Formats: sequence, C-alpha cells, structure tokens
Amino acid sequence: KKELLQLLKGKENVTLDGKKIMLYANIGNIKDLATVIQNDAGGIGLFRSEFIYLEKDNYPTEEEQFSIYKTAVETMAGKRVIIRTLDIGADKQCEYFGMDKEENPALGYRAIRICLTRPEIFKTQLRALFRASAYGNLAIMYPMITSLWEVKKIKEIVEEVKTELTAEQLEFGNPQQGIMIETPAAVMMSGELAKEVDFFSIGTNDLTQYTLAIDRQNPKLDKFYDAHHPAVLSMIRMTVENAHKAGIWAGICGELGADTSLTKEFLAMGVDELSVSPGSILPIRKIILETDTENR
Ligand code: PEP
Ligand code: MG
Repeated sequence: KKELLQLLKGKENVTLDGKKIMLYANIGNIKDLATVIQNDAGGIGLFRSEFIYLEKDNYPTEEEQFSIYKTAVETMAGKRVIIRTLDIGADKQCEYFGMDKEENPALGYRAIRICLTRPEIFKTQLRALFRASAYGNLAIMYPMITSLWEVKKIKEIVEEVKTELTAEQLEFGNPQQGIMIETPAAVMMSGELAKEVDFFSIGTNDLTQYTLAIDRQNPKLDKFYDAHHPAVLSMIRMTVENAHKAGIWAGICGELGADTSLTKEFLAMGVDELSVSPGSILPIRKIILETDTENR
C-alpha cells in the first residue's frame, strides 16, 4: 500500500470532476522541509513560527528570523509558503515573554492579542517576513482573529513596517495576507473579514475547542472534544461560503484537514486547500483523485 502511494508523487490534486485542490504541508521548523519535499507537498500551508521563539531563551532577532523565512521560501522554490505569525500563550508558553499566570489561558493573552499590544515584537517579525518575501512565494497568516478591528489594526502596522523598510532602503516583496478562522466569532464575521484579506485558513483544533467550549488540552474531556460535531462542520461550511462570495480561497490547516473520513465532505463544501502533516499528503491525494464533488 505504501508503494502504491509512492506512485502518486508528481500527480496533480484534481478531483474526478476537474477541481484542483491545493494540498500543502504543516511544519514547525525548517528541518521539516526535507520531508515536505519528499512527500510532494504543493507548498507550506502552515509554518508555526512560534517554534522559532520557543526554541530560544530570548526574542529571536529580525536577522535570525529573516534567515529562516528566506531559507524556507528558497527551499520551496516558488511553491507557496504560508508563515503564521507568533501564536504563543495558552498551550505554548515562552518564559522570556514574562507573562502573568492566567486562570483561563486559552481565553487569555495569546497570539495576535500579544502582537497587537506589544507591537515592537510584532514589527520585528513583520519586517523579517516582508524582507524574506522578496526571495520567493511567501504568504503571511494571522492567528486567533475575532474582530474586524484587529485586521484593520494589523494593516496599519503593516503599512508602518513597509514605510520603515522603504526609508531604510531594504528590499521587500508583496506577500499575500490571510487570517486563521479558529474562533466562532471569526466564522460569524467571515463575510466581512473576507473583504479584508487574501485567504482564510480554518484552524479546526482551536475552532473545535471554542465552539464546543472544551479545553483541547484536557484529556479528561477527550470524549467530548468532537471535531466531527455538526456545529463544527457547519462553521467550516459557512466560512468557505463566505470566502467564495468575496472571491477568496479557504483552506483547513487544523488536524481535521487530515481526517480522510471527511475529505470528500470537505471537497463537496468547496474547501480549496488542505494543509496537513507531510505524511498525510499522499493518502489525501489518493482520495482527492477518487472524489466527484458533484455526485457523492
Ligand atoms: C488550529 O488551531 O487548528 C491550528 C492549526 O493552530 P494550532 O494547532 O497551532 O493552535
Ligand atoms: Mg490554533
């Protein structure tokens, strides 16, 4: 069976009715790029940049980050690399950020909330990302969005960064910018949000947690943490519909995207991209090739 999957390398991800799907890989480190290429991913759909911060005992500098992002896009040689901005807090704690202990960390100071209240940290990362985008197909993705004002604020900060880079005569590209849809608020606002960004990527790990009010970290609740819950699937459907109404694409980068029992359903909903761990690329390609999105 393994050998048969190997035969799918180099094949397009196209359904029986001719719909092309972007099939990308999730990574946490540029060391993973070799497996990504081995498994013939079409790009990187989620580079969890927080690992760059977690692996160090102080804030990574702009140059350190620039070099990592540049290596990623150059290694992927023209294939899209979607880098998610810092997503710490909750399950991922970083000592040197000096954050207070919280009663409800999953509902607390995390991800974009840190970036918008500590813009110096955010700007360092954005500068590195914009500069690296001159070297390949880089896209930026913002996590834990709940409101329109957050996206507008991000755009203001991005403009400041571009003005600064221009003044310093540092080269930068024009990366696509998308958001993660991983809170019920973002799903409900997806019609409005879609007008502001280039793409959506659905984070089903957090979306399940916040939709079902189940702590994703608590093993006692495993029985209740049901990513197949109809409420979660409705959220995905709504997000994709609103993305398409605004003419942007929508993908899934949470674990559910690799659930082969749902692949056909996702494709029927119109999901444009699936980003999964490298080992899941070929098994999912197999299902895409067997799917007719119009006749299920
Ligand atoms: C998610 O929430 O589904 C996601 C992809 O992000 P993370 O698992 O890193 O929170
Ligand atoms: Mg998440």
